[in-house]
Amino acid sequence: MERAKVLIVGGGVVGCAIAAELAPHTRDVFLLEQLPRLGMATSTRNSGVIHSGLYYSPGSLKARHCVEGNRLTYEFCRAHHIPHQNTGKFVVATTPEEEEEIHSLLACGRENGVEGLELVSAAELKRHEPHVAARCALRVPSSGLVESEALVKGYAARAAAHGAYLATNARLELVEPRPDFVRVTAGPAGELETRVFINAAGLFADEVAALFGNRQYKIYPCRGEYWETVPSKVHLVNRLVYPAPDPSGLSLGVHLTKTLGGTLLLGPNARYIEEKNDYERGRESRQEFCARVQKLLPQVQPQDLRPAYSGIRAKLAPPGHHGMADFVLTRDPAYPHVIHLVGIDSPGLTAAPSLARRVAHLVRESLA
Ligand SMILES: Cc1cc2nc3c(=O)[nH]c(=O)nc-3n(C[C@H](O)[C@H](O)[C@H](O)COP(=O)(O)OP(=O)(O)OC[C@H]3O[C@@H](n4cnc5c(N)ncnc54)[C@H](O)[C@@H]3O)c2cc1C
Repeated sequence: MERAKVLIVGGGVVGCAIAAELAPHTRDVFLLEQLPRLGMATSTRNSGVIHSGLYYSPGSLKARHCVEGNRLTYEFCRAHHIPHQNTGKFVVATTPEEEEEIHSLLACGRENGVEGLELVSAAELKRHEPHVAARCALRVPSSGLVESEALVKGYAARAAAHGAYLATNARLELVEPRPDFVRVTAGPAGELETRVFINAAGLFADEVAALFGNRQYKIYPCRGEYWETVPSKVHLVNRLVYPAPDPSGLSLGVHLTKTLGGTLLLGPNARYIEEKNDYERGRESRQEFCARVQKLLPQVQPQDLRPAYSGIRAKLAPPGHHGMADFVLTRDPAYPHVIHLVGIDSPGLTAAPSLARRVAHLVRESLA
């Protein structure tokens, strides 16, 4: 039977960043991913935005790991030649209520330690984004874009270069927890024993926790759908433009992204769905989606839109809940050598390297 020091379940950006953080200092790091390639689930079905840490309650894990993750992600991208750009972004207000929202965001961002935030007038915004409708905007210089697939591959490559064993088509099926190790069965890889077990299973992290008898988590899948414009409308946006966030906390709102590839991506919306793998059924209509976009970009018409991909958020907040749930990063109460990461929705792509550092600290304590 194979013996691991650390076994990570889930080969998304979080699992791969953890493997990359651990492998240079720890022997026998294994990662299991059920799909044929790493990062095929949520980690490559997102906006690819390197978030600044603006939106999250001061002191929350989201705030701390996003601000730290922003710095670490840029550092990693520069060091490993991952395509990225520090574009900055504007969050725009189109109503007096949204202006108030923007002022609260500014205060929240400053409290979280986000640097360089600045309110700008409609005239100043027009100089940068002449087609965007707004009363004023918040300029966020530390936001940017990254090619998420390249980022996941970059973390995985660093882990593998330091001897980590990353298995795809390897689904965790069963666990038998013992006081100081866990025996796992993964198809078709077989049986494995590990000193530390890390649950980074994204949308399925609640189900993996339940294998240990821990039923306190429930993930509510919430789909985000994207559209892109026809090439003739790409010039309407120069960088990254966000609306004032939805006060319900459901999402950051349908935003406008001039992608690194030069297309104009619109989205995501936010809709709770029944099944964790349902990427397409019952998409919002072109007209409804276009109405959201027109709030920021009046010149776009329904016929200018082409359907693009969608992604599914692993939300801990149920439908109808007001406010944002925080990330969970914790030891299992019954088995302290089992570490769960649950509810890693946005800004998980950005926060991953910072979450990985925290997990590495817990792993070192467990192995000491
Ligand atoms: C629409 C949308 C837009 C977003 N935009 C941004 C953004 O711009 N910036 C940002 O920072 N964040 C963003 N996010 C959030 C970010 O994408 C996620 O937080 C991040 O990808 C979560 O990574 P993960 O590794 O936890 O999950 P995943 O990528 O889902 O990885 C988990 C992996 O575990 C595997 N797995 C599950 N169960 C098992 C099992 N039993 N055995 C083996 N493997 C298993 C799955 O197959 C999966 O590959 C967005 C999310 C969505 C949905």
